[in-house]
Amino acid sequence: MLLFGLAALSFKPADAQTASQKPKLVVGIVVDQMRFDYLTRFEAQFGDRGFKRLMSDGFECRNNHFNYVPTYTGPGHASIYTGTTPANHGIISNNWYNKFEKQQVYCAGDTTVASVGVDGPAGQMSPHRMLTTTITDQNRLHTQMRGKTIGVSLKDRGAILPAGHTANAAYWFEGGDEGKWITSTFYMDQLPKWVQEFNASAKAKNYLKEWNTLKPIETYVESGADLNTYEGGFRGKEDAVFPYDLEKLAPENGGYTLLKSTPYGNNLTTDFALEALDAEALGQDSDTDFLVVSYSATDYVGHNFGVNSKEVEDMYVRLDLDLERLLDALDKKVGEGNYTVFLTADHGAVNVPAYLSANRIPSGYFDNRAFATALNEFIVSEYGKEDLIEDISNYQVFFNYENLQEAGVNPEELQKKIAHFALQYDLMDKVYTRAELNQANYTSGVAALIQKGFNQKRSGDVFLVLDPGVISYSRTGSTHGSAFSYDTHAPLLFYGAGIKKGKTYKLTEIPDIAPTIAALLGIEFPNGTTGTIITEVLE
Ligand SMILES: [Zn+2]
Repeated sequence: MLLFGLAALSFKPADAQTASQKPKLVVGIVVDQMRFDYLTRFEAQFGDRGFKRLMSDGFECRNNHFNYVPTYTGPGHASIYTGTTPANHGIISNNWYNKFEKQQVYCAGDTTVASVGVDGPAGQMSPHRMLTTTITDQNRLHTQMRGKTIGVSLKDRGAILPAGHTANAAYWFEGGDEGKWITSTFYMDQLPKWVQEFNASAKAKNYLKEWNTLKPIETYVESGADLNTYEGGFRGKEDAVFPYDLEKLAPENGGYTLLKSTPYGNNLTTDFALEALDAEALGQDSDTDFLVVSYSATDYVGHNFGVNSKEVEDMYVRLDLDLERLLDALDKKVGEGNYTVFLTADHGAVNVPAYLSANRIPSGYFDNRAFATALNEFIVSEYGKEDLIEDISNYQVFFNYENLQEAGVNPEELQKKIAHFALQYDLMDKVYTRAELNQANYTSGVAALIQKGFNQKRSGDVFLVLDPGVISYSRTGSTHGSAFSYDTHAPLLFYGAGIKKGKTYKLTEIPDIAPTIAALLGIEFPNGTTGTIITEVLE
């Protein structure tokens, strides 16, 4: 019996099996600023057909982390899709000091291309600063460019970086007076008819309506009181409490840009993604297509109201319905079993430090400007020179090498002196230098995350790490960027064709996603991949 079984197995043509399991469509979903614990904290609020469908019928990696700093949107999206970290893909932050151009640059900014669908610079974007390929690029290469890639996100970087260098299109939302989905000449010279029609419809306008809680507010027991001192709120409304009259608030809050800071921004993202699914005929032939969708409104709401707010709870109650709508449409249009979904986040977020402090948890606020002034005074007192430092940004100190040479200052000596000075400074936890990062190979802890975020060519010379729970931010709302668990622990769910049911508590890391999807599709890894296949996930 056993021998017969083995023989039968060995004669089964492996290619046929692979072909039948290969999904027609991969849908990559990134939820901006989604902490892992939102899955558990809001679980009782979720229906069966959204998050819970992915969790119970798919595979859940419950110990999934970012393995580098800074934990921001640009690096997050790049790392998910390139299977590596800023050390290799080069997206070292959202904005960073470019020492070669001697100016701040934006991760998706590209002045060599023009806006499409809008006047002005909002469309001057491309993935050109990302140095390595994405899983979406590899799929295009593998299928002789027959498999399509379409990227959709309210944020330009949330659409552009995942869609890669070879995307058919990436679309993002321009607020202000426009309320339109736009793109850049990097992809096309004019918007397709379906995008023009979407923009001409009243869809965006209709969302400028009242935002109240979807369910009775007294049922939102997994968040703090609606009225508290830890929330920002909108201009033109005294308290950050429900309901919000968006039509009335829009003129004072950036017009259509206001939608980005409400759950309706995510609704609009789903509306647009479903139009793309139809109009681009995604998942309709044997070449795998990619639809990459990033839900950005979650990040704006978290920044404004903080991770413990009623607004965030309502946001996730509503996002659950967006996922249900997306999955139902995929069932209908592509067919259950013909598509694969993964869902993750681009970073987490910290509880509002003022709230943590009120509950006696160590936390605080760091004044970047005061630190820069103090550091400058220290350097002047040591060397009698003002201009040895060119820039301080993203908790990195960038040296001016020409001035160092002129003053006869050894860069490694200056790194050490600054490290010593910074460690005496209040709320500073750790400091690393370029020399250390070039010489050592850190395998654990914050140092390992700093090193994986350290790009030899693009990064600075000294790296500053603040204490746990300390941010440089307003006293209301949440932010992110650190190597601490609240910023690194992110959900990771796989579902659909080729995916097992199950879960693991084994450590998985964000760069593991791309090689896992590559293995599922039988295609080459992105060229800078440092992650590994999560074998438990695959059938
Ligand atoms: Zn953010």
